[in-house]
Amino acid sequence: MNVLIQQFRNLMDILYGKKELSDVSKYSFICYSIACVHIAITIRFFSLNYTFLYIYNFLSVVFYLVIGTILPKKGRFYAIYLCSFCEILFHSSLATLLAGWGWGYMIYTLSLIPVAFYLAYSLPQFGRSMAKPFVFTFIAMCVFILTRIMCDYIQPIYTNRKYDVNLTWAYNLNGSVSFLMLIFFSVLFTIEIRRNEIRLESQNSILEAVSSKDPLTGLLNRRSMDKHLTSAIDLARSKGKHFSVIIGDIDDFKKVNDTYGHNIGDDVLVNVANIITSHIPEDANVCRWGGEEILILIHSPAQTAISIAEKIREEISKSTLQTEEVPIHITMTFGVAEYIPGFGITKLISIADDNLYKGKKDGKNRVVA
Ligand code: GH3
Ligand code: MG
Ligand code: MG
Repeated sequence: MNVLIQQFRNLMDILYGKKELSDVSKYSFICYSIACVHIAITIRFFSLNYTFLYIYNFLSVVFYLVIGTILPKKGRFYAIYLCSFCEILFHSSLATLLAGWGWGYMIYTLSLIPVAFYLAYSLPQFGRSMAKPFVFTFIAMCVFILTRIMCDYIQPIYTNRKYDVNLTWAYNLNGSVSFLMLIFFSVLFTIEIRRNEIRLESQNSILEAVSSKDPLTGLLNRRSMDKHLTSAIDLARSKGKHFSVIIGDIDDFKKVNDTYGHNIGDDVLVNVANIITSHIPEDANVCRWGGEEILILIHSPAQTAISIAEKIREEISKSTLQTEEVPIHITMTFGVAEYIPGFGITKLISIADDNLYKGKKDGKNRVVA
């Protein structure tokens, strides 16, 4: 029972595009399904004693079992389509000409249409060409019409047999199987589209995450911080929510670079970013604003932002930053500004920047608001 439930879940996952159905299983399944349809037709023709048709159908069963076993494993999916396209067209028209239009064998040829378009979408060997499915479809249509015309001129040789075939049943059966084939290929199409959508969504979210971050420090970059600042201003305007910004700049960073080299300078930047990230509230946003300038968005009034900045400043100044080669001691200066109604982003940042500049002028390693 559990196995059945598990299989049902797998099937649902495949239908909703969450699980991949491998091409080998898909094309083997298609070949074996067509073989099954041919087995049923063989039995029917055998029971009617239509010798030529049941021998032909029996050979078709063997044909589909062989190509279904060999070709999918070799990745020859296009060859499978070509073989089955020719076989289905030939078989349907042959059976129709020999047994009569009333059997409905030509309905099978309609299921070749979604398959051709499905392959154009999903099979690289098909070349993603839109011309090919139209050509295949056009050929199928011509054979369909030609067979219909020929039926008016050729008398089917299997009509005056001793068995009285109920053609309505035969037609309905062939029609139903053709419908099932059409449904099957349309479902495959939908699965393929869903699968691609899910793949694109996950690639998009990876790209989004990568493009919103600074590669060195892992902090947000300026572009994505702009979005947070804009939404903070919108919230402040619509709901009166307070927020503040902190701009921090490493003191005498040029000296670090000059003394230890640019790579060590990079390590220092990463260390600083880590300290800042671990000392800000969860809802705060922090970005690398410029070279060694960090901008923090705090969703609280200035008083809270000042104490957070003070805590970070203290942590940085008392810690020895462990780089790959030498331990380095650095300090950082901060400017804080709270959003005041009527301000734009530029104005708010320039006030924080002015405060940072004051801090630098007054001796660095301090927070100015
Ligand atoms: P101040 O205390 O006035 O801020 O002095 P400062 O030496 O830090 O001066 P300033 O802020 O103007 O210097 C910025 C330096 O930061 C210059 C630049 O070489 C360095 N820098 C900018 N981006 C990077 C980076 O990604 N890696 C490294 N290693 N250095 C950087
Ligand atoms: Mg600077
Ligand atoms: Mg600096």
